[in-house]
Amino acid sequence: MSSYTRRVTPPQPLLERYRDLLARDGEPFPISLGEGATPLIHARRLGAELGLAHLYLKFEGTNPTGSFKDRGMVLAVNRAVGAGARAIVCASTGNTSASAAAYAAAAGLPCHVILPAGKVARGKLAQALAAGARLVMVDGNFDAALTAVRRLGEDGLAVVVNSINPDRLEGQQTGAWEVVDALGRAPDALALPVGNAGNITAYWRGFGRYADEGRTPGNGRPRMLGFQADGAAPIVRGEPIEAPETVATAIRIGNPASWDGAVAARDDSGGLIEMVTDEEILTVQRMIVQLEGVFCEPASAAGVAGVRRLAAERRIGPAEVVVCVLTGHGLKDPDAVQGEEGTLVPIPADLGSIREAMEL
Ligand SMILES: *Cc1c(COP(=O)(O)O)cnc(C)c1O
Repeated sequence: MSSYTRRVTPPQPLLERYRDLLARDGEPFPISLGEGATPLIHARRLGAELGLAHLYLKFEGTNPTGSFKDRGMVLAVNRAVGAGARAIVCASTGNTSASAAAYAAAAGLPCHVILPAGKVARGKLAQALAAGARLVMVDGNFDAALTAVRRLGEDGLAVVVNSINPDRLEGQQTGAWEVVDALGRAPDALALPVGNAGNITAYWRGFGRYADEGRTPGNGRPRMLGFQADGAAPIVRGEPIEAPETVATAIRIGNPASWDGAVAARDDSGGLIEMVTDEEILTVQRMIVQLEGVFCEPASAAGVAGVRRLAAERRIGPAEVVVCVLTGHGLKDPDAVQGEEGTLVPIPADLGSIREAMEL
């Protein structure tokens, strides 16, 4: 890697903004792609539909590779560089590999991705390929891919950047810190999808750390509301799922690495982890973009789908401050969108025909 420090302006790089909470005695953070500083959007129209006056969307799709994975990846790759790593490796259903490939490219390191055969969203695969990652597809599920990656890490062949790398979850705490900084308080509840369960673990730690440091006005912490897809709900069902299935490929995980962290977040916060159906996920994905203009991927909609149900059942009050983390961008998974594209038939280009077709 060259000796210059890469600067991305604006905004101030995430790791510099929270350097006092993240850095080990003056360590350098030369790599940044401009991650973090994602918008917290007051969702007035969606909130009205759900009966919530203070519903906010933390849209992680504006991160450099389009998902929250960049928050932890930037720290993991900076530390891998600092440790003299020769390569990085991850198992991934998509977004981790897209993020790892980008940060590895910026660091000048080779990136190896072990991915499970079958459904990987098209946009995510394109990102890893475009950035020059080396892909190995295995005939097994995500959990099998992760087992292989752990072994490669133990053998010292590459630095593992899955969330079993503690730098990942450490960096992901910044999502919680930004929410508190933007609201000027902790929310009453924070909802998010749960796959490998790293993010719910990191958010809960992040809220705790910020309050302990005296940086959360009022010292509050939210109830943590985690949602799994009903075909991939090991934590809700209390046992690993052999063959998880859901349209929300980012949370198609049968045996979460951070299972204990998720249970602690749920229990210590007085929260819950429940499940939603694929149908609810796709309906709510459409509601979010059609009411708010925010296009997220299916997994991201799981958190809002859960909140919708809790609000309908009066398990969330209408005046509570609720933040839903929209974990990834909708463009990553264009095949999940059901539209009329396939049925479009050209008509004559004259104004009369066009008016008629527009039903004006
Ligand atoms: C990784 C990911 C999740 C799941 O997060 P975990 O930390 O594995 O629970 C959800 N949504 C998107 C878009 C993701 O990329």
